[in-house]
Amino acid sequence: MAVPETASTYFRKGFGLKAEVQDSLVSDYSGRLVDLLRARDFQLAAGGVTVQIAREFGFCYGVERAVEYAYQTRTKFPDRRIFLAGEIIHNPHVNDKLRDMGINFLRPGTNGFDFTAVASSDVVIVPAFGVTIGDFETLRAMGVVVVDTTCGSVLNVWKRVDSYARDGFTALIHGKYHHEETRATASQVSKYPGGRYLVVRDMIEARMVCDYIEGRGDRGLLLERLARGASPDFDPDRDLARVGVANQTTMLARESLAIADAVAQAMERARGAEYRARNFRTFDTICSATQDRQDAVEALLQEPLDVMLVVGGYNSSNTISLAAICAARVRTYHIEDAECLDVDRRTIRHRPIGSHSDVEVADWLPAGSVRVGITAGASTPNNKIGETVARVFATRGVVVAESA
Ligand code: SF4
Repeated sequence: MAVPETASTYFRKGFGLKAEVQDSLVSDYSGRLVDLLRARDFQLAAGGVTVQIAREFGFCYGVERAVEYAYQTRTKFPDRRIFLAGEIIHNPHVNDKLRDMGINFLRPGTNGFDFTAVASSDVVIVPAFGVTIGDFETLRAMGVVVVDTTCGSVLNVWKRVDSYARDGFTALIHGKYHHEETRATASQVSKYPGGRYLVVRDMIEARMVCDYIEGRGDRGLLLERLARGASPDFDPDRDLARVGVANQTTMLARESLAIADAVAQAMERARGAEYRARNFRTFDTICSATQDRQDAVEALLQEPLDVMLVVGGYNSSNTISLAAICAARVRTYHIEDAECLDVDRRTIRHRPIGSHSDVEVADWLPAGSVRVGITAGASTPNNKIGETVARVFATRGVVVAESA
């Protein structure tokens, strides 16, 4: 735990107000069509369109908990100013709901969040991704009430990285260096003098590291490409001698495993099996919710689908991972919500993998009998999934309403 727990200023288990906020949560996020899909073996068919949804999708346990605690915080402190360190999760609708409740969003800066607007009498919510050790220390020094919703699965990664740094291993993190969770995870090494980390986004970056371990790499190129995701004084000659692999919880599981394997093999080729046994560690830190959603979409892709819709925030890492799995197998559109489907114009606006802007596609729903697969990231509410299902059918002139 990053902040010593005191009864009055640090809260990690909510406020015992689950019953008080339950109606609001149901009203804001539950989905009638999702319930109907579940009741009908995850399929709905009408007007020549069959919609089939993955068997695991949408809100995960960590997101449910974080959002519920944010609602509890508002209920517990109706008259206090409440701030949130970044976004509670990566879904615009959920964040908008919190803004509507009067919760203020703090923006990240280069050296942590900007807490200048926060007074000691205020309440600060830490999101599901966690915050860095530096931010936790700032909050503790300010004496504010901290409501920590960091997901338990993220805490497990922190424990792993902590053990690497404690034992003199560089934490090699498969993740996105700018992502809140990865920044928080990387900061764990700073508990130990000489603690180091290096973030690799994908196998391409991991191969640069492997090449360097095997003596083929270019120091300048490696640092130029990876320094933004490395500890400030990272030295590849010194810091790639002992490596422990971890990952951001929402990455592509198979890529994380492949990266760990590639680094282990590079170390063995360079210095032998005995050296590898003593100086390489790994631990799969993909969370079970992410894994379940990836497994479920793989199962769905066994079906003869014509098109796949992946619903979730464009900055949602686990949604992007789901879209990447689908795009390799079937025509896939990552959409933020149902608004991306224009029923009258029969268009879809989507975010292609790796792109930072949207693309509009005409006549996205093929004519004739068609099967549409759907999944959604761990931060996507059920009502937003249901609204998407309704618009898919509406594109064929079939009315199925999300709201009663
Ligand atoms: S995706 Fe995994 S790590 Fe992230 S909040 Fe959900 S359960 Fe926790």
